[in-house]
Amino acid sequence: MLPPRTGTMAAHADVLVVGGGPAGLGAALGAAAAGARVVLAERYGFLGGNATVSLVMPLMSFHTQRQSPPPPGDDSRLMPTDHGPGDPVVAGVLQELLARLVAVGGAVAPSQETGYTVPFDPEAYKLVMLDLLDDAGVEFLFHALASGVAVEDGVPGVVFETKSGPLVVQAAIVVDCTGDGDVAAAAGAPFEVGREEDGLVQPMTLMFRMVEFERPEFAAYVRENPDQWRGVHGLWDLVAKATEARELELPREDILFFATPHEGEISVNTTRVGGVLATDVWDLSFAEWQTHRQMRQIAEFLRRYVPGFARAYVAQSGVSVGVRETRRIVGEYQLTAEDVLSARKFPDVIARGSYPIDIHNPKGTGTVLQKLPPGEAYDIPLRCLMPQGIDWLLVAGRCMSGTHEAHSSYRVTPIAMATGQAAGVCAALGARAGTPPKRLDVEAVQRELIRQGANLGDLGRGEAGASGR
Ligand SMILES: Cc1cc2nc3c(=O)[nH]c(=O)nc-3n(C[C@H](O)[C@H](O)[C@H](O)COP(=O)(O)OP(=O)(O)OC[C@H]3O[C@@H](n4cnc5c(N)ncnc54)[C@H](O)[C@@H]3O)c2cc1C
Repeated sequence: MLPPRTGTMAAHADVLVVGGGPAGLGAALGAAAAGARVVLAERYGFLGGNATVSLVMPLMSFHTQRQSPPPPGDDSRLMPTDHGPGDPVVAGVLQELLARLVAVGGAVAPSQETGYTVPFDPEAYKLVMLDLLDDAGVEFLFHALASGVAVEDGVPGVVFETKSGPLVVQAAIVVDCTGDGDVAAAAGAPFEVGREEDGLVQPMTLMFRMVEFERPEFAAYVRENPDQWRGVHGLWDLVAKATEARELELPREDILFFATPHEGEISVNTTRVGGVLATDVWDLSFAEWQTHRQMRQIAEFLRRYVPGFARAYVAQSGVSVGVRETRRIVGEYQLTAEDVLSARKFPDVIARGSYPIDIHNPKGTGTVLQKLPPGEAYDIPLRCLMPQGIDWLLVAGRCMSGTHEAHSSYRVTPIAMATGQAAGVCAALGARAGTPPKRLDVEAVQRELIRQGANLGDLGRGEAGASGR
């Protein structure tokens, strides 16, 4: 039995955004640009979410694809590194972030020559996020872990654990951008976890950066061994050889790399732990323990077997193991795989996506990839951000409402940012009107998003809400 406790009332905002990842950035900037007083609270001492906490690089492509869909029978395991040169389907806050990152040399702009995924520097990313939020007048609370909700006289508040003891921040509307849906779950929103058949979620991965990597030497090896290489996936034979020699014990059969903006650096996305859930602290502990051991093996393997890595070393691993999937809050609508793959359009569109369904096997090797038809994108309806049964809360990013399969597409950084921006705008309009977001006129949300430069497809090209889609 824990003793009862009191907390300090820290602030009252129009909009409280919980979580400073990609969705949180979108939500805070979207709400501020719509005129709200915004507080953003984050459990770590810096911003970025998976992008910086877990070194998740690069930004996945946010363009429609040029490739034809895979022929029947294709196992579709290739990563879609080079979408485009189709149209971009995400803009708004993402474009603001990108422009600033590129300006400080912290990202490589997408192009035909460099590809349509966006390598970035996580330290530059942290600083650019701070600048963007500062410029927008957003107030921060760092080192604050949301642990519960407290609704007093109808005014919602979120409780935070901090070094200064428990704090409460009240707001007209709260936007849950924690990735895990922590606030929504604490508020009693319904949620789902994992695949329909067994409840398993995508595996966790500790990402790391290696430096003193000789890119030209490595590139020459790739050119001379094309069969070892499929997009960014590769080294199949060497992995098999090291596995047979018991030097590698990985639940995946290949090595997945990404370039960074720095010539002598590479980002490694290869550790994998399945059968674990990141809202369970024992699972998280196991995943950290297991992936750090895998990282040591992988770095040693690369140095020993792979040209270009002889002098390379691990300069940094994620502050936390990377979490792909936890709770999916059940909203007024659940986005489905069919919606994604058929590029479905909705009258209440507030964001768009073109990234494939991309499911890393929760149980072992392999990654399932199912692409949208070339040139196509799907709509995300505002209802996916509205948890069932709660009026003062919106969700955005990877915890928004959808099935396990659809989640594997909308979870990526650019789309999370776009749903965040939509939630922020909706929250600001709701706070200003004193109306629960569910009763707002969706066309008002769409008009404000378009004014802020968001990409709503045909809607942005005509009058908001007038397309009859
Ligand atoms: C290993 C891995 C590789 C990936 N690869 C790519 C890739 O190459 N490209 C790509 O675009 N996407 C990739 N993704 C997906 C992408 O990183 C995430 O899905 C995306 O970051 C989701 O954004 P989000 O804001 O919803 O959540 P998150 O990025 O998880 O951000 C949530 C934020 O909320 C904070 N938070 C959580 N709980 C609380 C709490 N209770 N109180 C206060 N703060 C809290 C966290 O600290 C964090 O800052 C990858 C993900 C993983 C794990």
